[in-house]
Amino acid sequence: MIKVIDWLKQNRKLLFSLEITPPDRGKSMDDILSSIDPLMHFEPQFINVTYHQPHMVYEEKDGVITRRPRRKKPGTVGICSAIKNRFQVEPVPHLICGSFNRYETEDTLIDLHYLGIRNIMALRGDPPPGQARYIPEKEGHHYANQLVEQIAQLNHGKYIDDLEDPFPTDFCIGVAGYPEKHFESPNLDKDLRYLKGKVDAGAEYVITQMFYDFRLYREFVEKARAIGIQAPILPGLKPLVNRRQIQTIPSSFHVNIPAELVAAIEEARTKEQAFASGIRHMARLVEELIAYGVPGIHVFTMGQGHAARALLEAVFAGKP
Ligand code: FAD
Repeated sequence: MIKVIDWLKQNRKLLFSLEITPPDRGKSMDDILSSIDPLMHFEPQFINVTYHQPHMVYEEKDGVITRRPRRKKPGTVGICSAIKNRFQVEPVPHLICGSFNRYETEDTLIDLHYLGIRNIMALRGDPPPGQARYIPEKEGHHYANQLVEQIAQLNHGKYIDDLEDPFPTDFCIGVAGYPEKHFESPNLDKDLRYLKGKVDAGAEYVITQMFYDFRLYREFVEKARAIGIQAPILPGLKPLVNRRQIQTIPSSFHVNIPAELVAAIEEARTKEQAFASGIRHMARLVEELIAYGVPGIHVFTMGQGHAARALLEAVFAGKP
């Protein structure tokens, strides 16, 4: 049960971590775990597992329309447990504000603590599909800093109700940062102020949204340090390896793709060439990050373990 912050501070070797997404409801977990199996020889220090808000489905029966929440990707906590059993790697469940009130959040934190989980990634969460903006639950959190605060309070043994002799939890908390600003934020400076709020509330490290230009990460880190954010900032990386992702990544994640990467993918004659060009770009990016002194790299697999593997082979074999 090692805390992510202890790895980030160990300063011995480059840390490598992964993020996976639970399968759709009704699908086996095996495909996800098998897709990261080949990545295990790169010895990831921890594996994050995303959490997804339910969306509303409307059903008509006998002329009456009813509404019920349906979670497309359940299983975050179960997958965390499976990761621990199968790979003996530390899992990091994502916990979101959306769809939880603070009482449910407290119950979930107690479950995670009992399971031996010591690391949590605290997020506000995306609005569910079909919903334009984030709507908190009644008595739920509006922003991630409030969730961080609740976890930090529990680490001090402060539960919502006054309890007799309460045990303190011991969670290491990570939060999200956005080198190109969060899409709802008017500007990066304001977004960074809120990031500082999360760190001040008790977050110990930051994992960034994906980016494709090293300068964006460097500027983000410099601006964060300038306003007093001292927490380690782990770069999040998502290999871009095909034409479709040139459209889907910016629209889903609100990030820019540099012109030379777009050109390299578009000029490729085959899928294999496009894949190789994307990996070359990512490997160069990782080289720049390592030269800058990042504590590690965090790879979003999103069901594409083969792209993560190709990137790691390029990086660790030293031939970008
Ligand atoms: P917040 O930090 O709360 O910020 C949300 C917005 O509100 C920002 O624009 C910010 O500037 C503003 N803001 C923040 N605090 C305040 C405040 N106190 N007052 C006013 N404005 C404020 N989503 C999922 O649903 N599940 C996941 O598993 C998941 N994993 C992710 C992992 C990583 C590494 C990253 C980078 C993102 C992930 N997301 C996930 C997406 C994330 O939930 C969304 O980007 C979400 O819209 C914002 O989450 P946040 O925690 O950054 O929110």
